[in-house]
Amino acid sequence: MTQTVIRKMTANEETLGFQTEVKQLLHLMVHSLYSNREIFLRELISNANDACDKLRFLALDAPDLMEADAEMSVRISVDPESKELVISDNGIGMTRDDVISNLGTIAKSGTAEFIKNLSGDSKQDANLIGQFGVGFYSAFIVADRVVVRTRRAGNDAADAVEWSSDGDGQYTIKTIEKAERGTEIRLTLKEDASEFGETYRIRHLVTKYSDHVSIPVYLKNDVEKDDESEAKSEWDQVNQATALWTRPRTEITDEEYTEFYKHVAHDFEDPMTWSHHKVEGKSEYTGLLYVPARAPYDLWNRESPRGLKLYVQRVFIMDRAEEFLPLYLRFIRGVVDSSDLSLNVSREILQKDARVEAMKSAVTRRALDMLAKLAKDDSEKYQKFWEMFGECLKEGPAEDHQNKERITKLLRFASTHASTPAQNVGVEDYIARMVDGQKDIYYLVAESHTNALGSPYLEAFKKRGIEVLVLSDRIDEWLMGHLQEYKDHQFVDVTRDGLELPGEGKDEKKEQKKESKEHKALIKRMKEALTEQVEDVKPSVRLTDSAAVLVLTEHDMGPQMRQIMEAAGQAMPVSKPILEINTDHSLLMRLESEADEGRFKELARLVFDHAQLGAEGKLDDAPGYLKRVNALLTELSV
Ligand code: ADP
Repeated sequence: MTQTVIRKMTANEETLGFQTEVKQLLHLMVHSLYSNREIFLRELISNANDACDKLRFLALDAPDLMEADAEMSVRISVDPESKELVISDNGIGMTRDDVISNLGTIAKSGTAEFIKNLSGDSKQDANLIGQFGVGFYSAFIVADRVVVRTRRAGNDAADAVEWSSDGDGQYTIKTIEKAERGTEIRLTLKEDASEFGETYRIRHLVTKYSDHVSIPVYLKNDVEKDDESEAKSEWDQVNQATALWTRPRTEITDEEYTEFYKHVAHDFEDPMTWSHHKVEGKSEYTGLLYVPARAPYDLWNRESPRGLKLYVQRVFIMDRAEEFLPLYLRFIRGVVDSSDLSLNVSREILQKDARVEAMKSAVTRRALDMLAKLAKDDSEKYQKFWEMFGECLKEGPAEDHQNKERITKLLRFASTHASTPAQNVGVEDYIARMVDGQKDIYYLVAESHTNALGSPYLEAFKKRGIEVLVLSDRIDEWLMGHLQEYKDHQFVDVTRDGLELPGEGKDEKKEQKKESKEHKALIKRMKEALTEQVEDVKPSVRLTDSAAVLVLTEHDMGPQMRQIMEAAGQAMPVSKPILEINTDHSLLMRLESEADEGRFKELARLVFDHAQLGAEGKLDDAPGYLKRVNALLTELSV
């Protein structure tokens, strides 16, 4: 945040250096946004609009702030001769301190990190910078000099500030007189940006980008320079100036929705989808929700601002009110406009108000419906959505019990029935493909997708043609702990004890009992040999190729979850698994006939080691394992 004073000219005039991040961002922006440069106008009008919103809000309690000028507006004038473009508003304005921190630093958290990730490839960076939001600094894409004159509403005319910079690393700030409150931004256009000095061009851009801005945007007509009176008729209103969300859905075009999104979200890219709804009845509100096409740079930063722009009866109240959506939907942007809340609602009140709670559950439902619609109408787009935001949605079942079924339907998994590791199978697809007699939804959590596919646990499923969902994201075991069921289907972990497969009749049960009896001696010996490692040894019904697998009882913690807890410094109770053996496997047959107890023990341990590798992808005793395998190999070669 440091800005160094470079020169102090007089008591009130000084030159300061931009914060390092600003310098870097300015440089990158000017280069990577060149082909997109007209967006600077949208950014500056957006800021002007926000400044007016803020003033209107503060004036609710302090009407004097409005001075004698209550009609909020943005005014734009161009001078093709001097190549100047001036954008002014009569909003809240800024004090000297505001100017220094707002126009000399970037307050967003993670900025340095973000800048480090820019590649230098202008096309890629343009998208990233778009996500980040360029705001005021985008003026320097088209201007080689920017002068901001501003007075905070309520301050004396003599207590205004002028900020000026060539965008080259420093700016000068001084105290000036300014009669009207608010902010005026004067751009001296670059040689190659003279098109933005033409009225027709600006008119076109305002209509294109800022039609939905809720206050009037006036453009100064081209009139003779020495015209004496600056009559009001010189100013043309260019935009519609009605808040977009208050208009009927049928009258709003996709382009208008898209532009409004870019304004709300400070995003360059079109949104993926949106939902616009008016709710009447017990609580009345309008919501306009958007799903961005790309995850913001700070999606995984828990402290990042999130939430919707809140309005009450069309009056702007606050940006990013987080009380209207759960955390797992933090990527959703947009607006809520309530008819019921009080105009002087504060964040503290929002957190306690029962009406807000009711709106939150209604807005959440709308958001989930919007996603369900996207999944139904356009599975390809939904897949893109899933790649961006799927991991957020996976937090849903734990956070939002009420909507668990709806969220579960939106989840996508990798599966043994797909040829790629892409997560593109939903529970409904899975259920539609169930085999005769199948009721449960089977899943396997593994370290990686490749590990999972080779897993011995899947053998019995492959044999029977039963699909298994394959989960390998870090969050997955935790997620499955919260899922349990969908409609009347249980989620069943294929690595657990007591697995009963569809089509598995009494015969198999009998077979298993018979095997237990037949191999009683082997089982007993193995139990003794592995008493430290396993809880029990049982004949398996699930194995065809492998010698043995480890299974957990229903209540044991899985290896992924255990690792997470242990990494977090939690000591976990040791629970021993059950070893299921394939008595038809040659290794087990060999064991059965092994008379030497020492050898038996070594081989039994080897069977356990292999089962552990299959289950966890690693061994408790790797050196011991190597020794045992070496001994075996030596034996084979003599
Ligand atoms: P952002 O709008 O994303 O916060 P900007 O770089 O566009 O970032 O602006 C930084 C800050 O400068 C704004 O948050 C606002 O406080 C202030 N600001 C910019 N333009 C104006 C304006 N026209 N009137 C009052 N304040 C402004």
